[in-house]
Amino acid sequence: MSESVLTAVAWPYANGPRHIGHVSGFGVPSDVFSRYQRMVGNRVLMVSGTDEHGTPIQVQADAEGTTPRELVDRYSRVIQDDLVGLGLSYDLFTRTSTDNHHRVTQELFTALWRNGYVLPETTLGAISPSTGRTLPDRYIEGICPICNYPQARGDQCDNCGNQLDPADLGEPRSRINGETPEFRETEQLMLDLPAFSQSLHRWLDTRTQWRPNVLNFSRNLIDDLRPRAISRDIDWGVRIPLDGWRDAPMKRFYVWFDAVIGYLSASVEWAERSGDKDAWKQWWHDPEASAYYFMGKDNITFHSVMWPAILLGNNGAGDRGGSPGELGTLNLPTEVVSSEFLTMSGSKFSTSRGTVIYVGDFLREFGPDALRYFIAVAGPENQDTDFTWEEFVRRTNFELANEWGNLVNRSVSMAAKNVGSVPEPTRPEPADAELLAQSRAAFSTVGAHLGHSRFKQAIGEAMRVVGAANAYLSHEEPWKRKDDPERRDTILHTALQVVQDANTLLTPFLPHAAQKVHEALGGTGVWAAQPHREDAGETGMGTTHSVLTGDYAGEQARWESTPIPVGRPLSRPTPLFAKLDTALGETGPSWAPIKPGE
Ligand SMILES: [Zn+2]
Repeated sequence: MSESVLTAVAWPYANGPRHIGHVSGFGVPSDVFSRYQRMVGNRVLMVSGTDEHGTPIQVQADAEGTTPRELVDRYSRVIQDDLVGLGLSYDLFTRTSTDNHHRVTQELFTALWRNGYVLPETTLGAISPSTGRTLPDRYIEGICPICNYPQARGDQCDNCGNQLDPADLGEPRSRINGETPEFRETEQLMLDLPAFSQSLHRWLDTRTQWRPNVLNFSRNLIDDLRPRAISRDIDWGVRIPLDGWRDAPMKRFYVWFDAVIGYLSASVEWAERSGDKDAWKQWWHDPEASAYYFMGKDNITFHSVMWPAILLGNNGAGDRGGSPGELGTLNLPTEVVSSEFLTMSGSKFSTSRGTVIYVGDFLREFGPDALRYFIAVAGPENQDTDFTWEEFVRRTNFELANEWGNLVNRSVSMAAKNVGSVPEPTRPEPADAELLAQSRAAFSTVGAHLGHSRFKQAIGEAMRVVGAANAYLSHEEPWKRKDDPERRDTILHTALQVVQDANTLLTPFLPHAAQKVHEALGGTGVWAAQPHREDAGETGMGTTHSVLTGDYAGEQARWESTPIPVGRPLSRPTPLFAKLDTALGETGPSWAPIKPGE
């Protein structure tokens, strides 16, 4: 039976191009998952967009001498280029700076407010004495009041991990110009998180299928909840729909609050664009629908605690009760799928330290599927993982090119040269049936892994079929059977059938190569649809708006073994994957920022 599956993908912050650490956390895993779910016939809605508000955007715009609007217009396009280049099959990739997003954020807030889950509170806000402007928390540095770490940030101490208030820092100073900030009283809105501790615990008790580290981490967070600010003194963001706040020049929602609401607002925008404005409800209202959230581990808090609390508050289902808001009773996450970090020389990718490999540079040199393969097979699924050029070159050459590319190439070439079409299997032997049974059985094992976001195990099982097919060819040696064409053709037919099966199994991981293999096997039409950029008109805020979308519902690859038609014409294929120069493994490409040993 067809199920409704929401794939909610973390929103990249619109302050620069993406690096390969970002896309290994949220991008490639969510796309592999969505492509698999579509192939088994589920109704998938995969949504995300660029996160465009908040103080870091404003500070960066100041530094570049431009406006926040110009900055996010530029980087939302750059990020779209990265994601479309990787072939990430978003149903909608939009932006938070649209009218629609602002409206949905305000509606959700209104429900929280009416149900009594938002508390006004007078706090101390930092002001820069030289400019008179609000100084954002993360641009204040000082001594941690808990562990005495000298470089704690205003919002959090990176040493002890505690959330902080900038007014509590010892010897506070501006990270922008070093001056001492002034603190003045200012009113903010707080989400009353302690009022969700019972309901969040009850909900987490039902999340038995989560990865244990995510579940335990989330439980610990709930035991220590404090009210959290959802407003800021800033003039770039979503306005607060309350009397006295609505027109205030320096009051907006805190960027974390509006960003998590993006999953919902993007679903609403997708529905409006589809021509059925209520279509989003099948993913958000139907209790049978499921919702999978993909992100890096630094974002777990927002998806396993904050966003569920907002949803419970909207639904009137927090510890204080209430009634559902305008948008109705909304589904909570089915699962929070988080990745660990991709590192380089043991450290997180860091733009400021220059240890960074940008997606755009990578794609220009190596194309999308080599990166997708590397992330799936060697990425940070369960632990922090170091990226090295040596391993990238080794995986590309020995696994993609030698194992998979070579299997496709020699099977199709031999059949094309000797027969010119898919040959007929007239002389079967037990070895053929054994290999075919193995490749058919892989659909359920690989599928089970993919359904549980176990990508490494899934691609490992798929590549095992490729390995078995190569061993079969080496053993059966069809190239030595000139005098026995019936047996030779049977072997080639078996090999082509297994190439087709393996190609189906690898389609979620390698959609670009899968389309080429489909064509090499004589297939026509779209096998694995790709996203494209589309002009979506106005944002409603005085700027034009483009989105990523695609048609993934047409006649395409299905998750099943289908018989390859005997007699279908074949021609000699072009190689699937180019082998890389092994010297690249020692030095990296010329544009790579850090060389091994530096
Ligand atoms: Zn500390």
